[in-house]
Amino acid sequence: MIRKIIHRIFRRPGQDASASRAVEPAVIPPESHPIRREQISSGSRRVCEILQEQGYKAYVVGGAVRDLLTGATPKDFDVATDATPDEVRRCLKRSRLIGRRFQIVHAHMGRETVEITTFRGSEKHAAKTDAHGRLLRDNVFGNHAEDAARRDFTINALYFDPVTERILDYHHGLADLKQKTLRIIGDPKIRYREDPVRMLRAVRLAAKLKLFIDPEARRPIREMAVLLENVPPPRLFDEMLKMLTSGYAVECLAALRAEGLQHDTLPLLDVALHDPQGEKFILFALSDTDKRIRQGKTSSPAFLFAVLLWREVNVTWKRLCEDGEHPQPALFQAMGEVLQTQGEKLAITRRIASDIKEIWALQPRLEQRSGKRVYGVLEHPRFRAAYDFLLLRAEAGEIAQELPDWWLAFQEAHPQQRADMLLPAPGSGKKRRRRRRKAGNSEHPAEGHAEETAFAGDA
Ligand code: ATP
Ligand code: MG
Repeated sequence: MIRKIIHRIFRRPGQDASASRAVEPAVIPPESHPIRREQISSGSRRVCEILQEQGYKAYVVGGAVRDLLTGATPKDFDVATDATPDEVRRCLKRSRLIGRRFQIVHAHMGRETVEITTFRGSEKHAAKTDAHGRLLRDNVFGNHAEDAARRDFTINALYFDPVTERILDYHHGLADLKQKTLRIIGDPKIRYREDPVRMLRAVRLAAKLKLFIDPEARRPIREMAVLLENVPPPRLFDEMLKMLTSGYAVECLAALRAEGLQHDTLPLLDVALHDPQGEKFILFALSDTDKRIRQGKTSSPAFLFAVLLWREVNVTWKRLCEDGEHPQPALFQAMGEVLQTQGEKLAITRRIASDIKEIWALQPRLEQRSGKRVYGVLEHPRFRAAYDFLLLRAEAGEIAQELPDWWLAFQEAHPQQRADMLLPAPGSGKKRRRRRRKAGNSEHPAEGHAEETAFAGDA
């Protein structure tokens, strides 16, 4: 104990903790921590038991242990072992190798899939890096202590043994968790350089678990944020999605901006938040989503990105209309431009991008309440998401509440009542074309009623 306290006190700022790394972990007996084996998924528990019966080490590790200690519900229960992937496969019948970069085993235990990772070795000796020091590979096996040292934060390097119910703690993660501190393992600058995504993970975990980022880990972030430029856009997309669906998206985005990390992840966020209406919409929508997620409901990635980028689409759309573009092609052009700019930093998958476009393209169509097209909108596979989006726009004061109210009533009405609810069709022929032109010059293309704006065409 005294050795550990001395170790903590004399760890100088910037000192590479892995150099003075405790090779023997602190062993926390079951009576000194709250995790019980019943809290571990039955599949992961069984995997650990089977591997241990065969003479291997096997623990539940990472986010699951951390979340259980903080009272949060773990997303998954990953297992770490000293068995090689081939040895794991020999022990577990329904298992297969996945991953090219670093082989992981997926074992099917009943309906559960358990991810099993072999202890990884020290990154320093094994790995290849790019010109900026980013690790390109970390595919060398190592011992338990090395596996703990290559994890990102002390609270993520806790190993729970479901057989003995003991926790192995190599980097004082338990003490850090008690002190609500997110501390990086090793020299923060080196660890961020190896993998800049760790800066985003720091922000997300601190926001989610209400932790303080240790000053040593926080200080270099602003100056190193630029390293995110070299991270492959699909990886940034995954991490950003985790932030948005963490149930703490509002806090994450605030922290992202406070640390200067948004430029290389969500370049359009500043533009959107700069304008009070844009900020109101985003904060309103994300806090609503956060609430839903914390109640155990889901929210689609497309919806979340549609929210974040909506203001920018609107601004671009308006500009194009002012330049004389017809409103409907202008909307499509605006959507394309915004997704393109965003995609340069963070690769939104094609499928999600197409869902986002559908949600946006349905907005002007939802503003129409006349003619047969209304029925088409109602039948549209993306209607529900587009309606929820419309509702948020109304709640944020962007459009009149009357519009989503009408759609709610229309959805619930009988077919005959529906026909009666339709508004009279706008004029025809020349008159209609004139209206279109006028609508294109209106102050805000997505605002006002589509009975007037006449964004009639199908998306
Ligand atoms: P969550 O699942 O809530 O997003 P997590 O910490 O479990 O959080 P995962 O991505 O599931 O995140 O990673 C599992 C574990 O792998 C982490 O707890 C950490 O120990 C390690 N890890 C993940 N990403 C990194 C990284 N970039 N650098 C070092 N270790 C990492
Ligand atoms: Mg996890």
